Order: sequence, then structure tokens, then C-alpha cells
Amino acid sequence: MRKIQMVDLQRQYEPIKAEVDASIQEVIDSAMFINGPKVHEFQKNLENYLNVKHVIPCANGTDALQIAIMGLGLEQGDEVITADFTFAATVEVIALLKLTPVLVDVDPVNFNIDIEALKRAITPKTKAIVPVHLFGLVANMEDVMELAKEHNLYVIEDNAQAIGANYTFKDGSKVKAGVIGDVGCTSFFPSKNLGCYGDGGAIFTNNDELAHTIRGIVNHGMYVRYHHDVVGVNSRLDAIQAAVLDAKLPNLDAYNNARRNAARKYNDAFKNHPNIITPTGLSTCDGICSTCDCHVFHQYTLKIVNADRDALAQHLAEKGIPHGIYYPIPLHRQKAYADERYNEADFEVTNQLSDEVISLPMHTELDDDQIQFITNTVINFLNQNN
Ligand SMILES: *Cc1c(COP(=O)(O)O)cnc(C)c1O
Repeated sequence: MRKIQMVDLQRQYEPIKAEVDASIQEVIDSAMFINGPKVHEFQKNLENYLNVKHVIPCANGTDALQIAIMGLGLEQGDEVITADFTFAATVEVIALLKLTPVLVDVDPVNFNIDIEALKRAITPKTKAIVPVHLFGLVANMEDVMELAKEHNLYVIEDNAQAIGANYTFKDGSKVKAGVIGDVGCTSFFPSKNLGCYGDGGAIFTNNDELAHTIRGIVNHGMYVRYHHDVVGVNSRLDAIQAAVLDAKLPNLDAYNNARRNAARKYNDAFKNHPNIITPTGLSTCDGICSTCDCHVFHQYTLKIVNADRDALAQHLAEKGIPHGIYYPIPLHRQKAYADERYNEADFEVTNQLSDEVISLPMHTELDDDQIQFITNTVINFLNQNN
């Protein structure tokens, strides 16, 4: 059996080596390392894939979030609501821009922002909601968009973990994650579902005016060369990274299918185990049914109940099985984001999840032997220790 890795980028590269190498070589031959045709080509291809009017490439996913929020022109004291259970980047940019982050609890089933908690957190100062499509499953955007409309709020999707996922509205319309709200953001960090070989990110929107504003912000606030109309940043996607992404984009659906297949095998093996709760999708769907494409399994995350999660984690490490605890400490309990207005009782789910979750290896190259070894190791340990 091959060595099990959390993400196996070497193996993923082997079958696409010719395309990736040729695409990178084109950039080197053209010597257009900043912006230039490769970045533009990738931008167009991603716009087509997502069916969105504007993709604005940038340097990383954290920048994408920051720039998207800057583009909306929010002001100090404006409140921005996001999930307590996410990667710190989401809340970091809100705080950095001197806006007021308001963290709310998540749903115990899909790990995404809890709609009732979101409703309770809306005040007259609320200006925006940042739903995070955690672990590859799109948040309940039907309800998020309805609330946003009702209260006149912007919606900024943190789509760093769910590129390629589809969301089906009740009326049957299907939209790609990241292009549902006013603006969407993604990361091309190497381990993400569409990863480059360094840092990268992008912003999506169907709003022409907002796209124009954001294109200036990423380029030092310039709309006309050397005329700086707003305070901007310098955030660019390297042409060499765009070359890698452009070569990989045609495989994104196949990559996401491979992840779903692996998730299905994991779920089958863990089915009905008393100490394991397997990941699940929306209430009407487990996220991995044969017709469904709403979950792209950036992470495959179990809840370990009535058993010692940390002992299991240690056992996996001893057996050479990598794993992750995403996320071990809820954001409202982080020093940087603690706020005296928060009440522990309002974060029951995140607090519990941080004690129960464990993410198993999940990538596009997992094979059956590896999955079987992992699932047997988990099940044997839990059976022997409970
Ligand atoms: C990875 C990630 C980011 C940040 O992306 P970078 O490219 O690493 O800056 C933001 N939000 C979430 C949910 C992420 O998983």
C-alpha cells in the first residue's frame, strides 16, 4: 500500500504532468509573469465554468475575502455576521477592516451557519453575512439569501472549500457555490479542491459595478494608470499559478467526483457504528447520493461520540494515518476574536464540534486499500476502547 497522505499532490500531478508543464512553459516562454494572457485565459475559463460574469483573480483566499468586503464599502462599526466554526481567515479580514465581526453558532448536522442563530444576530447595524461552505458543503443559501433580502444585507460567500459544488434551490434552479451571493471568494491553496502550486485566490461576482470597483482595489486603487482613487492593495495571481490552475480546471469535476466516491466508501464502512456520525448534507440529501453534487468533500469529517476522539487521533498517528482536527478551538474562544458580548450558551454546537470532529485523509487519489486500512483502523480502535 502507498503511504497515506492527507492530500496526495504528487500522485495527482503524474497524469496531468504534460498539460501542467506545457502550460507553465508557455508562461516562461512569453515572459509575461504578471497578469498577461495566462491569467486572462484562466479567468475566462473559470467564468465559463462557474457561469458568472466576473472572476477577479488575486493572491490568495484571505485577500479575496478582504478585497470583496472592501469593495462593498462597509464602514467602521458595521456588523458582519459569520460562522463561529470556520478557518480564522474569515473573521480575520472583518476585524482587520475595523468592521465588527459577529460570530454565530452552526448547525450540528451540516456544520454550516445556523439560520436561527443568524436571525437572532441581525441588528440595525448588520450590513453583511459571510456564509462559509465548510468542508465542501454549501451552506443553506436559500434561507441566507431570503434573510439578506429581507434585511437588505450583502452576502459574501467564503467558497474556499467548495469550488465546483452545486446548490439547488427549492424551485429546482441549480447554481455553483460562490456565485449565489453578491460576491464570492475562493482560495487556490495547494490542498484546496482546485489548488495551484503556491498561493492563489479569486473573487466572483455578477455585479458589473462591484467587479469594476474590485479590479481597481486589487491594483493599488487604480482605475486609470497612476491615478489612485481609493486605497487599494497589491494582490495578483501569478501567471505561473494561473498556468497550473488552467491546466487543472478541466479536471475539477472529476476531482470532486473522486472525493465523493471516497466519501461514499468511508460512509459505507462506518455506517451504523455507535461511536461514529458520518458527514451528511442537507436535510433532504446525504450529500453523496448518486445524483447529487452539492458536497465536494474538501474534508471528510466524522463526529466521534461517546468515545475518546483525542485517543483515536493519537492511535491513527501511530498507525501512520494522517488526520486533522478542523477546528480545535471555536473562533469566539480565540484571544484575537473574543468579545464580552458573547455568551458561551450561544455556541453549544461549535463548542461540542471542536471536541468531537476528526477529519480523515481526503483527496483525489485515495485508493480502496488505503480506505479499507483507514476505516478498519478507526473501527477496530473504537471497538476495543469502548
Ligand atoms: C483556506 C481558507 C481560506 C484562506 O485561503 P488562503 O488562500 O489560505 O488565504 C479562507 N477561508 C476558508 C474557509 C479556508 O478554508
